[in-house]
Amino acid sequence: MNDRFLLRALPAVLVATTLAACSAVGDAPAGSLDLDAPEVGAALGVITPEAVSRHMSVLADDSLAGRGPGSPGFAGAAGYAENQLRGLGLEPAGESGTYRQAVPLRHSTVVEGESSMSVWTAEGTSDLLYDLDFYLGADPLRGEVEITDAPVAFVGFGVSAPALGYDDYADVDVQGKVVMFLSGAPASFPSNERAYYSSGATKTDEALRRGAIGTMTFWAPDDPRLRWEVNSARAKQGAFAWLDGAGRPNRGQEALRGSASLNHSAVEVLFRGAPASVGDAIAAATAGTPQAFDLITRVSMRTTTRHEGVESWNVVAKLEGSDPELRDEYVTYVAHVDHFGVGVEVDGDAIYNGAHDNASGTSIVLEIARAYASLPTPPRRSVLFLVVTAEEWGLLGSDYFVQNPTVPPSSIVANFSLDMPFLFHPLRDIVPYGAEHSSMGRSVATAAEHMGIAIGPDPIPEQVLFIRSDHFSFIRRGIPALFIKSGFETGDERDGGAINTAYRSDVYHTPFDEMDQSFDFGAGADHARVNFLTGYIIAQETPRPSWNPGDFFGGLFGGG
Ligand SMILES: [Zn+2]
Repeated sequence: MNDRFLLRALPAVLVATTLAACSAVGDAPAGSLDLDAPEVGAALGVITPEAVSRHMSVLADDSLAGRGPGSPGFAGAAGYAENQLRGLGLEPAGESGTYRQAVPLRHSTVVEGESSMSVWTAEGTSDLLYDLDFYLGADPLRGEVEITDAPVAFVGFGVSAPALGYDDYADVDVQGKVVMFLSGAPASFPSNERAYYSSGATKTDEALRRGAIGTMTFWAPDDPRLRWEVNSARAKQGAFAWLDGAGRPNRGQEALRGSASLNHSAVEVLFRGAPASVGDAIAAATAGTPQAFDLITRVSMRTTTRHEGVESWNVVAKLEGSDPELRDEYVTYVAHVDHFGVGVEVDGDAIYNGAHDNASGTSIVLEIARAYASLPTPPRRSVLFLVVTAEEWGLLGSDYFVQNPTVPPSSIVANFSLDMPFLFHPLRDIVPYGAEHSSMGRSVATAAEHMGIAIGPDPIPEQVLFIRSDHFSFIRRGIPALFIKSGFETGDERDGGAINTAYRSDVYHTPFDEMDQSFDFGAGADHARVNFLTGYIIAQETPRPSWNPGDFFGGLFGGG
């Protein structure tokens, strides 16, 4: 209990709910929300840095071998989370009275020896080298797909966003062509819109809608997300999709005949004879100028994919709300417990422990659950705790849950996602991704103020974080969500931005993401507290969270 939060004198913050609520809820708890109430302080106090550290040590241990979906290590990690939630007295909220929701998966891997890519240029045909020049995306639907001698169009970022006044496709016809685009989206877009348009899924959908038959992605040389070796090592672990009741994968499209990721050697070959150089094209993209032009090169691509079925599951537990009028609505917390398992060896280590990604977030959700379970009276709304699978392969466990929820879909009022919140220094400021889109922004502002934590804007929009974790599965179903990350304030002379950059370039998604990093478990506890407190406010207030009027994501997904 030696943390700064509990020692500080706290300002009184009263959040009044409506009078109508007081009369409507009968014997429900008081109609005002007092964050200074002793039971709230006590709940915040049961969260400890030691507990966060203890959970993380278990989940990131070599014995769980990186928690790959379908592996014994995943079973061990999910079992640990389930036991913790059960031990807190939370009820099962999975299938058939259990804590589990089965998530049937298909694992698809490219058979490299039977896959190839070549480029026709005016000087002859070049066979590209797998791994060195390119790698291919596995096809979730088919064992073999082929593109033969197809024309290629370069389409800038491959973004069509008329509402934002930007369209790379304005002057090009890509029917029957393979489109080639840069990773990312224009820097002039608001951070979360930029993230949405940078998504490979958004870009592929746009290209196919316009009649393209394949995609090729490459990164600008200064893109921080370009880590060719890490990216290609990850691709070797294949792709996953979840399967519906009829055994159909949730991803993969008939019209897509191939998708490649390109190293710069391949980009140079494809750009031979082009109307602009690669450098000029990248400069135009950086300047935010929409662009597209046909290349004179042509491409052939053959992808052979091997498929196997994998059984995995989500863990789901609930705390039933205390208000008969609101207990059928759910505030949800989610963290993914999966990681990359055993993969390409780096410096003699093949176990991708994922201590930060995402033993940390899972541990924090377990502590949020402990805080809720400690309340003498549960909050008015019910609270659901989700520990999900296969986030690393496209937010699959959370997407499966929102598509096949174990509670009525309309009863999910809000989501909080905990994923790699950044635990390398004390928590002085937070970046609540999603706050600007819904009324949850007010709730997190109240909670942060109560804790004496500042709120800052996204310091790393180029990392497009808004689409990169499980909260986005909820956003896509029209459910307001928050993804709270640490800002860069450290409280001492260290540069939080530099620490963040170093982690992302050297450790993230490598076998070095282990427990021997200099974690600040106190920051972990504070992340648990601010997420608990924000969710508590939402669970207590009568109106359910709503999208802000005219919001981009509310309009896109929420019907708002
Ligand atoms: Zn990850």
